[in-house]
Amino acid sequence: MTEDPLDFGDPADLERLRTAFRAWLAEHPLPERLPDEPLPVFLHRWHRLLHSGGWVGLDVPEVYGGRGLTSLHQVAVSDELGARGAPGVPRVGYLAHALLEFASEDQRRRLLPRMLAGDDVWCQGFSEPGAGSDLAGMSTYAARHDDGHYTVRGQKLWTSYAQYSDRCLLLARTDRTARPHASVTAFALPLDRPGVTVRPLRAANGDDEFCELFLDDVRLEESERIGAEGDGWALAMTTVSYERNALDTGHLSKYGLLVERLRRTAHERRGELPDGLLSEIGRCVVDYEVLLAHARRRIAERLAGQPAGPESSVDKLLMTRAEQRLYATALKVFPQEVHGPGGDVFAQYLYSRAASVYGGTSQIQRNIIAQRVLRLTDGADR
Ligand SMILES: Cc1cc2nc3c(=O)[nH]c(=O)nc-3n(C[C@H](O)[C@H](O)[C@H](O)COP(=O)(O)OP(=O)(O)OC[C@H]3O[C@@H](n4cnc5c(N)ncnc54)[C@H](O)[C@@H]3O)c2cc1C
Repeated sequence: MTEDPLDFGDPADLERLRTAFRAWLAEHPLPERLPDEPLPVFLHRWHRLLHSGGWVGLDVPEVYGGRGLTSLHQVAVSDELGARGAPGVPRVGYLAHALLEFASEDQRRRLLPRMLAGDDVWCQGFSEPGAGSDLAGMSTYAARHDDGHYTVRGQKLWTSYAQYSDRCLLLARTDRTARPHASVTAFALPLDRPGVTVRPLRAANGDDEFCELFLDDVRLEESERIGAEGDGWALAMTTVSYERNALDTGHLSKYGLLVERLRRTAHERRGELPDGLLSEIGRCVVDYEVLLAHARRRIAERLAGQPAGPESSVDKLLMTRAEQRLYATALKVFPQEVHGPGGDVFAQYLYSRAASVYGGTSQIQRNIIAQRVLRLTDGADR
């Protein structure tokens, strides 16, 4: 396995960026998480530190607070972070893409620099109690008034870290008569607005990542609508296409660390580990190599100027399989040791179980591949 398994198209330019970032990281290592410091607060400190060095929003135009480079520069930075087991900046990449594509010029200039700097932390208010996979079936409703403002009523669910956020990219229906996919509209909701209640939920692993969001006649201005009425579905699909993409997350290099460690252990303890476990390690290596092959394909697509699309569902499925098998295998190979490279193996194992649900379940990814990639049916909307 080479040291840098991802091969970017313009080696000189990206290598210069990687060298500069490595030098910066040597002087600005990942800070210690303080005792009792909630994970999002810690990640926010890290976000701000990365931003102070110019390492957030590399692919966002300078006029909106980024560096005006390409998405591959951003991927290279994520890759370097993952290779050190350091976290990236949560949620910014794909939400920034949604704003870049759908927000007005004025909104992009107002919202993006603050999002990139971490001055405003954003969350994603898509899912509802009755609308997760069937997102278009949402019932949160934004009623438009004659002067252009809206009153929003409804409930969101599974909104990650809303209690630590300032703004929410919110989806709501704006037309009860139009077909569902044509009646969803997006808003930039300030979470301190009267009528918004955020209630954290405690998950089985002890984390309070999820929140319920209650919207009780919340006033939103026309200037807080992102895109036109009815653009919400396209915005949601753009957002999740970037969210599901294998490239931007730094996950690949993080998996690479653990795969390499498992591979080494398999050699060192060849006569000692049961055959079943050795073949599990072999499968982990194969999953990882397949994922890398896909990532290389995405890199070629990006270099050709192609945006993320429904093919991201293939990445999401492959990432889910690789991640779940990897941490399940690591737990068996290192049973007494819960601390591995990249963090706590047991905690990561627990979180890996959610990979087949967040960003759309594995079943939904298969539906998308059937409908929108392979065109096996005419269900064109998901
Ligand atoms: C860690 C985590 C973080 C999350 N963060 C956020 C967030 O920040 N913001 C947000 O909006 N949401 C978030 N979610 C919610 C996530 O998007 C939903 O959980 C997901 O879309 C599934 O929806 P659901 O839970 O309502 O399950 P359901 O849609 O009720 O699905 C239940 C089961 O039925 C299956 N199913 C449903 N429809 C079909 C179908 N048509 N074909 C085949 N099978 C089907 C599903 O695959 C699943 O197995 C998060 C979820 C997790 C786990």
